[in-house]
Amino acid sequence: MLSKRLENLNPYVPGEQPKDREYIKLNANENPYSPSPKVKEAILDVVNNSLQKLGLYPDPESVELRESIAHMINCTGGVLCNAYQNGCGDYSCISSAQDLIPFNVTPDMIFCGNGSDEVLSFVFYTFFDTDRPLVLPKYTYSFYPVYAGFYNIALDEVNLKNDWTLDIDKMLLEANKYDTNIIFANPNAPTGLALSRLQVKEMLEKAPKDKVFVVDEAYVDFGGQSCIPLLKDFKNLVVVRTFSKSMSFAGMRLGYVVANPELIKAMMTVKNSFNHFPVDAIAQKAAVASCKDVSYYCVNAKKVAEERESFEAFLCEKGWSVIPSKTNFVFAKKNGKSGDEMYKFIKSQGILVRHFSTPGIEDYLRITIGTHEQMNALKKIMENL
Ligand SMILES: *Cc1c(COP(=O)(O)O)cnc(C)c1O
Repeated sequence: MLSKRLENLNPYVPGEQPKDREYIKLNANENPYSPSPKVKEAILDVVNNSLQKLGLYPDPESVELRESIAHMINCTGGVLCNAYQNGCGDYSCISSAQDLIPFNVTPDMIFCGNGSDEVLSFVFYTFFDTDRPLVLPKYTYSFYPVYAGFYNIALDEVNLKNDWTLDIDKMLLEANKYDTNIIFANPNAPTGLALSRLQVKEMLEKAPKDKVFVVDEAYVDFGGQSCIPLLKDFKNLVVVRTFSKSMSFAGMRLGYVVANPELIKAMMTVKNSFNHFPVDAIAQKAAVASCKDVSYYCVNAKKVAEERESFEAFLCEKGWSVIPSKTNFVFAKKNGKSGDEMYKFIKSQGILVRHFSTPGIEDYLRITIGTHEQMNALKKIMENL
């Protein structure tokens, strides 16, 4: 009774959510801080003053939300921590002018979906053909291979270099050999390493110009550089972003793409052939409210980044190998121990971290940065390893 297509599916396994006891969850790269009080206000406003709106379909084009996101990007240069004071409402963080975008991001450059996982699915369908392989790093966000299976796209996985960085030359060689697309996360997951905007620019200059080049910036707000400024010169660049990590929205679901309007139009066609209304009415209102409290999220992102630095120093002191991270997680291994053993011990002490049994990274743990208190609890457990 099942379709033949089903045989190609190899579903993504998210970080576990066990119910047997209360764990400190440091296994899914969620944000330990709650959404802004403005989000609460916005949701209560819907509930108290316009509940009947929940009986109506939401705006299928998310017009107000796309305006809010475009505004936020223009004011922050695409990285929350860069928010600067320039007549941009509440934004109180300061950044250097070099991080600003050399053009105005307009709402027709934004596409919104029900989490960036869904947005990525639309990206795969809209831009990747089945007659050529997709180039990606061997270790990157593990949902890409899942979608490739779903859409019947072959993979051309390029090994990372010995220092865990992307093998840029090899990726370009492969992309040009097959005249095909490239996708990776920047900063990358699970390594946490980031390419600079200049490095991505140099890649774009040498990559096929008629094929879409996808950069997934899920973690950029914790210390990366956004590629959004490159959209001016590269019409084939697609930047995927999410509210889940830096904007504490993993439970609400909102992801988006920033790209040139022609590409966004094509994504709309795909969306309207699949689900007209991927972003529900409450998520739209709540996300608009989030965009108006960037300084709140900026402070949280900075706290996470500081906590990360201190945790990395702790790990090094305790004999772990640590890959320096620009994200809200750390990828590290205890020298001489197996990753599985470490993961199980930490879990037995009440903290969940992520362990991948994938060959090559099986001795590493991916540990999400939590609050100061959560990290202290973890450090205490690790003291005894
Ligand atoms: C978490 C994550 C996503 C998915 O985010 P959602 O918006 O929650 O679906 C996408 N890409 C990368 C690299 C991620 O780490």
